[in-house]
Amino acid sequence: AGTVVLAATPIGNVGDASDRLKALLAQADIVAAEDTRRLYDLARRLGVYVNGRVVAYHDHNERSKADGLLDQVETGATVLVVSDAGMPTINDPGLAIVRRAIERGLPVTCAPGPSAVLDALALSGLPTDRFCYEGFLPRKHSERVQYLRTLLGERRTIVFYETPHRIADSMDDVLDAFGPARPMALCRELTKDYEEIRRGSIADIRQSVIDNPPRGEMVLVIGGATDEEAEAAAPNSLSVEDMAVL
Ligand code: SAM
Repeated sequence: AGTVVLAATPIGNVGDASDRLKALLAQADIVAAEDTRRLYDLARRLGVYVNGRVVAYHDHNERSKADGLLDQVETGATVLVVSDAGMPTINDPGLAIVRRAIERGLPVTCAPGPSAVLDALALSGLPTDRFCYEGFLPRKHSERVQYLRTLLGERRTIVFYETPHRIADSMDDVLDAFGPARPMALCRELTKDYEEIRRGSIADIRQSVIDNPPRGEMVLVIGGATDEEAEAAAPNSLSVEDMAVL
């Protein structure tokens, strides 16, 4: 059989494309791309000629397309899966074909590379030893508030993806849920010319979002709960120290 290869693509700076990505783009039998136009644009900027067949593979067709692509893998094809930016499957298409490949016993591998989660986490200055990735917050205010409440006792550093048109409302809700004092970072336009990291308390960042609305792509990184906050959120849960005693 051939192989499914998930490949990360640059999240802004085209120089982050790996040699392996370029080789795969040139050599794969089939390239399953979230947006075929963007794929050709990337290939052009990388100076790579895509020899294989390019097919659209996005959120709306990934379940129905997965098996057909895997039939090709069964006959020996290399199927490269790429999304518009960053790592496929991370708030992007890809999971359906990975799951089906596992179920069908077909090889699947990854050519890793840029992803906004890790870039933002590493630049945030917040603890990186344990973190949780929470994708996008719910769009609706009421659901967002409810969701944020479920994270109140979370001790790990929390990473969210966010959009410019919702950031102001989300920051209001983050402030309501977590209070003003926790440290956080707003990481914007990562790897691009106008990369900007705003670090401060939740109150500081909310004010900065009002004073100077951030544009472009962004990630929010929020410090986890202190022992006291975690205890207040779930009074009967064990602290790390309790567990050490046990
Ligand atoms: N698969 C991608 C990854 O691995 O990062 C994420 C895709 S998701 C649809 C797009 C979101 O990722 C954006 O709304 C933003 O929150 C975040 N993002 C992607 N590129 C970014 C960048 N250059 N700077 C900051 N955030 C970015």
